[in-house]
Amino acid sequence: MNKTKRQKLDEIQRRIMADDPVPELRAGATQLVFGDGSAEAEVIFIGEAPGQKEDEQGLPFVGAAGKFLNEMLEHAGLKRQDVYITNIVKYRPPNNRDPFPDEKAAFLPYLEQQIVAIKPKLIVTLGRHSLEILLPDLKISECHGQPKRYQGQVYLPLFHPAAALYNGAMRQSLIEDFRRIPLVLSKIRAPKGSDSQPIDEANTEKPLVRDSAPSISEPNALQL
Ligand code: URA
Repeated sequence: MNKTKRQKLDEIQRRIMADDPVPELRAGATQLVFGDGSAEAEVIFIGEAPGQKEDEQGLPFVGAAGKFLNEMLEHAGLKRQDVYITNIVKYRPPNNRDPFPDEKAAFLPYLEQQIVAIKPKLIVTLGRHSLEILLPDLKISECHGQPKRYQGQVYLPLFHPAAALYNGAMRQSLIEDFRRIPLVLSKIRAPKGSDSQPIDEANTEKPLVRDSAPSISEPNALQL
């Protein structure tokens, strides 16, 4: 029998626990923070790593940044239970330090398996860490709010809610970028050939599960 998306996600979660890809992080954390939301989601939000509240509750984005994320989901007309939210790194780094490149690389195959299981229409990267690991050549300051199609998958790079929380200008940009999500989704859903789908295919090769740090060339922008 075909496995459901939820069953596939559960398997990936068990695989992380069995593989124990970064034992030092696991040892310092309370628990795995795998993901939250619908396995049938059209949109996946990907943050950096769990913080203290996430580590305590075993769920991503449940602290101050999570409250702000929930508010912005409302601005985009989305309900938290209808989207899927996860992080690149699944255990809290000590004292909330930035995850190291080798930690992000170690968790990347599992993130990619989550993406393959869910098959989202849109991947929203939150902050530079998830952008850098999925689309390494892009700079968040230059491309936030601009959808990018890369190997058939559409990405929307956004600022991280924690960075924007106490920074007026960034906060406003993030709210405006969130409000574009319904438009981006409608462009993605539009039938091929229609006027509202001026999407160029990127012509670069990106292995789905990478052994080492990926390198890609410039993805094409969706022109909205
Ligand atoms: N910041 C993140 O990147 N992820 C969380 O889950 C919480 C805060």
